[in-house]
Amino acid sequence: MGSILVIDGSQGEGGGQVLRTSLALSMVTGRPFRIEGIRAGRANSGLLRQHLTGVRAAAEICGATVQGAELGSKQLTFEPSDVRAGDYQFSIGTAGSTTLVLQTILPALLTAKGRSTLLLEGGTHNPAAPPFDFLQRVFLPLINRMGPRVAVELERHGFFPAGGGCFRVVVDPVEQLQPVELLTRGEIRRRTCRVLLSNLPRMIAEREWQAVASSLNWSDDCLDVPDLPPGHGPGNVVMLELESDSLTEIFTAFGRKQASSEQVAHEAVTQVRGHLKSGAPVGEHLADQLLLPLALAGRGSFVTTRLTRHATTNIDVIRQFVNVAIETTRETGQVRVVIGN
Ligand code: ATP
Repeated sequence: MGSILVIDGSQGEGGGQVLRTSLALSMVTGRPFRIEGIRAGRANSGLLRQHLTGVRAAAEICGATVQGAELGSKQLTFEPSDVRAGDYQFSIGTAGSTTLVLQTILPALLTAKGRSTLLLEGGTHNPAAPPFDFLQRVFLPLINRMGPRVAVELERHGFFPAGGGCFRVVVDPVEQLQPVELLTRGEIRRRTCRVLLSNLPRMIAEREWQAVASSLNWSDDCLDVPDLPPGHGPGNVVMLELESDSLTEIFTAFGRKQASSEQVAHEAVTQVRGHLKSGAPVGEHLADQLLLPLALAGRGSFVTTRLTRHATTNIDVIRQFVNVAIETTRETGQVRVVIGN
């Protein structure tokens, strides 16, 4: 066990990512840390239910001694012990994002000594978090290319603010993560516009699809409106999926009372246009999520559209835990990220 690291929760973007990345890397490296000023950059600073569930989940999996794990807490001390593969269940108790709880604990389970299963309950499609579909179709296939086998199965959709969603995860780990390279996109093989609609009029999905189809010139066979069982929501999500030679990307917009269906569709379309124009394979959200696993692999590279403040903050926190070179080079309309030497 190394000396205790002191992490400034207000650094960079000053959001929940500083905490999640610290927890994830403390679990993997065994390095204890204290974080001060948790989410100081946010109006509702301190631990929210999602972050608290992440802290508790991390502590349970690695038998950590924790101080400050309370709602609203702005300080936390986390002293990990050994990571234990096993069967776990974590419930956020609100619509807080289950995929962000998974983001906290998955890295440690990828190289744990044995299979783990997880049941996560809360929100599965939340604004400002990876939607379940992104986890399943974008992020995890890349993690699986690094060696582990991670499978997820959605049991119930959970939309903000109602929550009530649930998904299962099975993690078959490896001893050491292998690097990946994502430098070019190649051909786009398939385009899908998936519209989730729960407890809302069908007309919303039709208007969203019309707006997407006419803006991007996509044909009717691109549309996918899955039947969701009644009793959840309300919820509406537009996900535009691009399956290319090198990876799948998803761009998401969330329906809400203040926005017309056309406006929601337009938000997703704008992201797709920006992505296609840049020619980079990796979108900005995927970029910030790939940094940590690649740092643990010790090597890897990708080309992305741009590095957000979220990503640069993540790089700074990773450097505090792991001694790995992370080099970023701006190119025309793209950024190249190289991890390791
Ligand atoms: P908070 O302080 O409220 O916890 P935060 O700073 O931790 O927020 P965000 O900037 O909201 O978090 O991002 C959280 C994570 O969710 C990031 O890893 C980001 O890539 C991911 N994310 C956000 N929106 C999307 C999206 N539409 N698709 C995929 N991933 C997303």
